Amino acid sequence: MEKIKMKTPLVEMDGDEMTRVLWGWIKDILICPFVDLKTEYYDLGLVERDKTDDKVTVDSANATKKYGVAVKCATITPNAQRVEEYSLKKMYKSPNGTIRAMLDGTVFRAPILVDGITPYIPTWKKPIVIARHAYGDIYKAVDGLAGNGEAKLVFTDRDGREVTKTIHKFDGDGVVMAMHNTDKSIMSFARACFNYALDMKLPLWFSTKDTISKVYDGNFKAIFEKIYNEEYKEKFASAGIEYMYTLIDDVVARIVRSEGGIVWACKNYDGDVMSDMVATAYGSLAMMTSVLVSPDGIYEYEAAHGTVTRHYYKYIKGEETSTNPVATIFAWSGALRKRGELDNLPDLVDFANRLEKATIDTIESGEMTGDLVGLFKKEGVTPNKLSSKEFLKAIAKRI
Ligand code: NAP
Ligand code: MG
Repeated sequence: MEKIKMKTPLVEMDGDEMTRVLWGWIKDILICPFVDLKTEYYDLGLVERDKTDDKVTVDSANATKKYGVAVKCATITPNAQRVEEYSLKKMYKSPNGTIRAMLDGTVFRAPILVDGITPYIPTWKKPIVIARHAYGDIYKAVDGLAGNGEAKLVFTDRDGREVTKTIHKFDGDGVVMAMHNTDKSIMSFARACFNYALDMKLPLWFSTKDTISKVYDGNFKAIFEKIYNEEYKEKFASAGIEYMYTLIDDVVARIVRSEGGIVWACKNYDGDVMSDMVATAYGSLAMMTSVLVSPDGIYEYEAAHGTVTRHYYKYIKGEETSTNPVATIFAWSGALRKRGELDNLPDLVDFANRLEKATIDTIESGEMTGDLVGLFKKEGVTPNKLSSKEFLKAIAKRI
């Protein structure tokens, strides 16, 4: 069989620990036998990041800007213990944080659904995708303790004019906080959400609490509305999808009653909380994909989980592990499909679809990694725990 040809290379960002091991196997067993794979390779493993003073991360983000599509392996975000373990020159920042800042992107997390693994909310039949705004609000807030006295909010403009508002007159101890966001960041967030919804042909729901936070959340609401009306309304109509704005508490109630199939755009804190709720309700973090989308249409695909350190320590002792590679496979298929769409390569798009279907079929027929065995319930099918490599080979047979 002739291998499928590519035009433009994918930006490949390798990573750390168990996911780095899976990365190599996925390429060897599932991709390279079928696709004449073209990538521009960046090693974001911690050793190489240290060797290059993290320049490799910046280079990989610049390459992503140049080519438009990247696939990323999970990477270690160093803490004090990692600095010692790897004898690092310094405690580097999270690569995801660096890349996100350079691409100005929004992160979309979507669950991979499999017949046999029922979400805790059984009416959810289709994915609920959380789009989390990744800038500002309480994550960049200034807060402090207050005592007897008056807390004020002061804004000074460039010409030195001041506007002062009283936050609260305290007659005892308390706390205060001030937070911010920028129109530029909110506009990027809005465009990324509208683009993603169009791409996936899913309706977009956006929620804030503008009845209470009339100016702050009201600004988010107004920016989304303006961009929708000016740039996306017609595109949404021709794609047959809807944009809806509603209050966060209303949307929570609607989400629980829904059957899924929605992109839910959340402010930073809402997204932090709701994405863990949604991920858990769908069953497993190992079945959650993540894609960073920039407002100008650049895509970076990855798994939502980390480097699975505990499994890696077993692996280096020579033990076989049953680490779930599904989210990493879907990062590859997502990136290959997007490359195929952009380069007009229907065979590549078709391969990405077949790879995903083969992966899901393998699990549905009872062959899966250990983390899924306890969750899997399907009449007439007894779940069988395979090692990571056996599982990958079982998928390859079905492509
Ligand atoms: P983790 O790697 O996601 O693993 C946490 C636990 O979840 C694992 O020990 C395992 O449970 C289970 N798990 C996660 N993915 C799995 C998979 N594919 N198959 C089977 N089980 C899976 O999170 P962590 O332990 O908090 O972080 C480890 C490292 O990853 C850290 O250095 C962190 O900085 C990094 N990290 C990177 C990213 C990223 O690059 N996007 C994201 C998060 C964390 P059991 O041990 O019970 O089997
Ligand atoms: Mg969180």
